[in-house]
Amino acid sequence: MFKAAVFPGSFDPITLGHVDLVKRSIPLFDQIIVAVGINSQKSALFPLETRLEWLEEVFSPYPTVQIDYFHGLTVRFCQEKSAHYILRGLRNASDFDYEKTISQLNTIMGDHLETLFFISQPEYSHISSTIVREIIRGGGDVSPFVPASIAKNIQENHL
Ligand code: ADP
Repeated sequence: MFKAAVFPGSFDPITLGHVDLVKRSIPLFDQIIVAVGINSQKSALFPLETRLEWLEEVFSPYPTVQIDYFHGLTVRFCQEKSAHYILRGLRNASDFDYEKTISQLNTIMGDHLETLFFISQPEYSHISSTIVREIIRGGGDVSPFVPASIAKNIQENHL
């Protein structure tokens, strides 16, 4: 059976933690859809178009990884894409507390949609898009936290 998974997130911006999670999941699935969830409650630092371009660039070497975006519920997007798995990362106990509830709700609403959790590797567990945004706002160098091409883009365009 063809196995597809959705990795939903804000990716504002994509970090090395996200990349590591996707690379680890590639051998497990026929297709991985990295999808930007558009959250009307949360205003993003980077426009949707920029976030999608960066995802396209970073994952272009991986033919089974596709980039997309969606409004509304993740479960509905998964159903549209016939994906039976959601991928999420766990960095610490607060990620776990938050993700546990969401995953249980998604299993009920998504008709047995399963969420797979990847424990962050130690070298990435301190990285979050929130911290990266703070560093950018403060004019710092984000190259230790995001893919090299993205760091270059941020620096060159004074984003
Ligand atoms: P959201 O706004 O949905 O939390 P994010 O883009 O911040 O979206 O994160 C998407 C997913 O990636 C989440 O499951 C998050 O836990 C995971 N993630 C983010 N950073 C890391 C990291 N450094 N290591 C592992 N997983 C991570």
